[in-house]
Amino acid sequence: MTKVPEIFGSLVFNEAVMKDRLPKDVYKALQNTIKNGEPIDLKVANVVANAMKDWAIEHGATHFTHWFQPMTGITAEKHDSFISPTDDGKVIMEFSGKELVKGEPDGSSFPSGGLRSTFEARGYTVWDPTSFAYLRNGTLCIPTAFCSYGGQVLDKKTPLLKSMEAINKSAVRLLHLLGETDVKRISTTVGPEQEYFLIDKGLYNKRIDLKFTGRTLFGAKPPKGQELDDHYFGAIKPRVVEYMKDLDEELWKLGVLAKTKHNEVAPAQHELAPIFTTTNVATDHNQLTMDVMKKVACKHGLMCLLHEKPFAGVNGSGKHNNWSISTDTGKNILNPGKDPIHNKVFLTFLIAIIKAVHENQDLLRISVADAGNDHRLGGNEAPPAILSMFIGTDLEKVLKCVEEDLPYNEETLKSLEIDVNVLPSFKKDTTDRNRTSPFAFTGNKFEFRMLGSTANIACPNTILNTIVAESLDYISDYIEGKDDLDKALNEVLKKILKEHKAIIFNGNNYAPEWVEEAESRGLLNLKSSAEALPHYTDEKNIKLFEKHGVYTKLELESRKEILLEKYCQTINIEALTMLEMVKKDIIPAICNYSKDLTQGALAKKNLSSDIDVSLETSLVSKISSLSACLSKKTSELDKVLLDAKDIEDSEELAKFYHDTVLSQMNEVRAIADELETIVGKGYWPFPTYTDLLFSV
Ligand code: ADP
Ligand code: MG
Repeated sequence: MTKVPEIFGSLVFNEAVMKDRLPKDVYKALQNTIKNGEPIDLKVANVVANAMKDWAIEHGATHFTHWFQPMTGITAEKHDSFISPTDDGKVIMEFSGKELVKGEPDGSSFPSGGLRSTFEARGYTVWDPTSFAYLRNGTLCIPTAFCSYGGQVLDKKTPLLKSMEAINKSAVRLLHLLGETDVKRISTTVGPEQEYFLIDKGLYNKRIDLKFTGRTLFGAKPPKGQELDDHYFGAIKPRVVEYMKDLDEELWKLGVLAKTKHNEVAPAQHELAPIFTTTNVATDHNQLTMDVMKKVACKHGLMCLLHEKPFAGVNGSGKHNNWSISTDTGKNILNPGKDPIHNKVFLTFLIAIIKAVHENQDLLRISVADAGNDHRLGGNEAPPAILSMFIGTDLEKVLKCVEEDLPYNEETLKSLEIDVNVLPSFKKDTTDRNRTSPFAFTGNKFEFRMLGSTANIACPNTILNTIVAESLDYISDYIEGKDDLDKALNEVLKKILKEHKAIIFNGNNYAPEWVEEAESRGLLNLKSSAEALPHYTDEKNIKLFEKHGVYTKLELESRKEILLEKYCQTINIEALTMLEMVKKDIIPAICNYSKDLTQGALAKKNLSSDIDVSLETSLVSKISSLSACLSKKTSELDKVLLDAKDIEDSEELAKFYHDTVLSQMNEVRAIADELETIVGKGYWPFPTYTDLLFSV
């Protein structure tokens, strides 16, 4: 039997290993860097590098890599061995502090959105000591940040680290003003719940749409989907149990706090949730988790699908980003405690977050914008594209007391119909009933539920940290220097609630009426990524990110370009894959089927003209008319893809892909799916939804 505490972190150069292997002064210096962000000295780095190398070699490693998160959305690594030649024709194993601290991969082919032309290919990776190095497949992996020669940010990690600094500064400032002077640092914490699908690898290999695009571009609805809700939290099938067990062990070895696993709503859909940790570590761990999920699946003859919408007609996969703020004194700021009404810090931060979300609906929408995720948002399975906040009715009434200056006593609470007995401890179930909200307060944290399953959580958290930092600053600016701080605080909180309470919505976010109501409240509804992404570089957003030192204007422009380009390329690849599947697979299949039907009917007639061939006749006729339609729609798709080539402006192109290409693809799919329902199973060229969703 596996002894979990023994294997946990066994592949990680963590604090225990450092303590064990580093001289005391070096260990202390490194801790100072990790905990307080002090710059690292090269002498210290040399000692750390050497200890890391010895430890890695003892565990069978031969290589090291700077592991980073470029704008491709996945992680990147280039492996170098530790070997260094000696005069006698042999080698020794070496690894210097310089190699640990800084790498220089030729990053010319990573997306830079025009930040760097290819002849100026140099990009640097810089060690992030706050995230532990670990071993995988014989390589020492060192988490790093990636930037250009000119210092511009080229990855997802650097802005996240900057945003964590920004919110640290703003939160500590406000906490000090509120009298919490013992707090020296805060960190944001995240627990990302990861959804995924598992399907049979052999079947996967028969579908080029899954291979090239991660989702099925065709597939008629199977007779049974998720309507019985019998998969959600259902008993886990043996093959999946084996997979999950293996996955947990691999993750534990890597120090990932894998905690919860269960079946999700759609058939073949599952979820894994870790215990929360500091945001940058949670980000690295989530990237690692997704990678390990895929690798372990292969070992079990399975494929792990992380696409947001692999199958039409059943739920897609998301990633709930549970987010909070914790202090170095061990407090969770979003914990309302026993007496939330008198918990000044909790109420102030809560109200600051309300302002942040209301003012930055565009940015939060952008932070989850992706061609894949667009298929989920608003699909009655995930929150709509409209941002709103759920805080629960009790908490809403507490805020009403603040806004209207009502005295906090039992009488007022009763008159507001707050259950005086329930309120003080704010049981989790008083706040966790609404699963439809995109941004829900769930007892002691906010759960941002709009993220797609493939997303790197760095971007949503960079944005969340920055907008909240700005909001906290607003409150600090208002109260700082005032004689009566409490009075000033009360004033500013009231003002914020008046101006921003429109973002609070405790009702059903899936209801069609909400779309109308949201509009009347003036809330944004950026339905697609094509609509959302251009707002990245709005004046307000440039000002915000520059002020907090998270992105420069140039970096934001480059990010917008990269994301728009990725959006267009994704849909373009999908459309091309679709065309290939129709031309090379579907058309030959339907031709075969109707040829066999026709020949069969002719043979019957040959035998005797009395034999009824009305079945064959009507089938062939239906197939022929649908095929003609399919051929027409396919040619139209060919044509709109050509039209796309003439559009240069990226915003316009993204809009074209959304409005024209995607809708043309839907038309092609609808006819092909109808054909699938009448063509014989033996003729259909790829596994069906029934095969894919119900065979593991
Ligand atoms: P759910 O009801 O959504 O399943 P859970 O209580 O199981 O909620 O928690 C979901 C996730 O939230 C877990 O990953 C958990 O570690 C994380 N979480 C709990 N507390 C915090 C916190 N203070 N900060 C960030 N994440 C948290
Ligand atoms: Mg959840």
